[in-house]
Amino acid sequence: MKTKYIFVTGGVLSSLGKGLAAASLGALLKARNISVTIQKLDPYINVDPGTMNPFQHGEVFVTDDGAETDLDLGHYERYLNISLSHKNNTTSGAIYNNVIAKERRGDYLGATVQVIPHVTDEIKRFVLSLSEGEDAPDVAIIEIGGTVGDIEGLPFLEAIRQLRSELGRDNCLNIHLTLVPYLRAAGEYKTKPTQHSVKELLSIGIQPDIILCRCEKPVPEDLRQKIALFCNVDRDAVFCSTDVANIYELPMTFFEEGFDQKVAIMLRLPARNAHLEDWRRMLHDFAHPQGQVTIAIVGKYVELKEAYKSLHEALVHGGVANHVSVNLRYVNSEQVDEKTAPQLFAGVDGILVPGGFGYRGVEGKVFAIKYARENKVPFFGICLGMQCAVIEFARHVAGLADANSEEFDRNTPNKVIYLMTEWYDVHTRHVARRDEASDKGGTMRLGAYPCTVMPDTKAWAAYESESVQERHRHRYEFNNAFKDLLEEKGLVYSGVSPDKSLVEIIELKDHPWFLGCQFHPEFKSRPMQPHPLFREFIKAAVQQAERTRG
Ligand code: GLN
Repeated sequence: MKTKYIFVTGGVLSSLGKGLAAASLGALLKARNISVTIQKLDPYINVDPGTMNPFQHGEVFVTDDGAETDLDLGHYERYLNISLSHKNNTTSGAIYNNVIAKERRGDYLGATVQVIPHVTDEIKRFVLSLSEGEDAPDVAIIEIGGTVGDIEGLPFLEAIRQLRSELGRDNCLNIHLTLVPYLRAAGEYKTKPTQHSVKELLSIGIQPDIILCRCEKPVPEDLRQKIALFCNVDRDAVFCSTDVANIYELPMTFFEEGFDQKVAIMLRLPARNAHLEDWRRMLHDFAHPQGQVTIAIVGKYVELKEAYKSLHEALVHGGVANHVSVNLRYVNSEQVDEKTAPQLFAGVDGILVPGGFGYRGVEGKVFAIKYARENKVPFFGICLGMQCAVIEFARHVAGLADANSEEFDRNTPNKVIYLMTEWYDVHTRHVARRDEASDKGGTMRLGAYPCTVMPDTKAWAAYESESVQERHRHRYEFNNAFKDLLEEKGLVYSGVSPDKSLVEIIELKDHPWFLGCQFHPEFKSRPMQPHPLFREFIKAAVQQAERTRG
């Protein structure tokens, strides 16, 4: 079967949950045994989100092949249980970058290079690359970032308009997600924003086939008829995406609305039933926890939960695996010190220090780790969190008072975390673009790398496997010059690179659960396959709760 395309646009305002809607539709089609891939087109000028402040843009999601992508790719991977790559996300910046490179090379043979056709052709090439090759999927869902009416989005919308006539009506579908607000004072739903948004789409030549209304509660029948009439779609092509308590319920709501059924009919996909038994079982476990644990996340971006999206999800998945709900307490690392720690971590069953860049808040993270180590509170350090755990151990257990990471102190002789330039020259496949011209010298380790897990360790108890692959996004590494000294003092190296040159996982023996990893396990956790490290961390937190609360 030739790949069919579903384009998802958004109207009225942002944050309506377009990514979750696209991912949920993908999950439903997959449950019908249709192979699906999904792609995000972001209209901003950054070449990738790697350089963007997490405060503004949320988390940077890293794929196996080392692409730094939009956080929606995390939803896609979690809902579809697939592994995505650099082919699944692009930006205006990357598209223009390619066009300009071609122009400089003379590929356009003297033509005047224009948005139409050169930029739109480049966009179409990127979209169509999904349908190339033997393993091309049955369906590709393309989510266009931003809101209809944005200036930046126009080339993308023009590209999908053209694709529809090129690929044919049976092979393309346009879904428009819009807001249907409920006005409490008037006691009614309002369809005008939706009408305006569709008008805007029509003015650029796109007639939506399906309208997906984001609304608090299901919109009544007469209003659905009204939307169908004014927006020129079938009455049974108006669906509701209602607020859900748990984001994994969304595919079920869509299923009950008959959304996937309509999509399948319109795209002439094989008529099959969706197999949702596993999904239902997972939701049942979610809804019936037998207890609760509280986890403190000690980080810099605690005001914006989007900055720790995958982490949040992975912790929730770890809770499901242990039949408990996970209550997250975000603690601003800048507020943690020796005095405040006991109060900030009162009643906490586990402490997690996530990844991060830059010195701000680092000393607070070190205090939090000291607290976890000394008070035997389960601790999980991820990337910078692991590096801070090594710094804390070197300072307070091994007596290297000025131990630090080269990222924060270039002058200390005790750089227990450092820039391992020789290794990168040989091994790194993926180099962060932003570093190429800077003094950091192109030294970001990105994407999946193998790790050898040592027997008789907590890491082994989690993975039960000698060889695992995990995703990285960092520049600094554990400094092997301190390996023997720290080992003598009790630090355990439970995961190393296959050639043993890199420390990937550290842990402590005389502690209920104290583990740090150089990679980001949260990127690979799925609701139906919780990541083993998160499963074990939450398990330790459950035991901690039993110990402290009886
Ligand atoms: N800043 C640290 C480094 O570059 C850690 C990065 C991270 O936590 N992702 O190595």
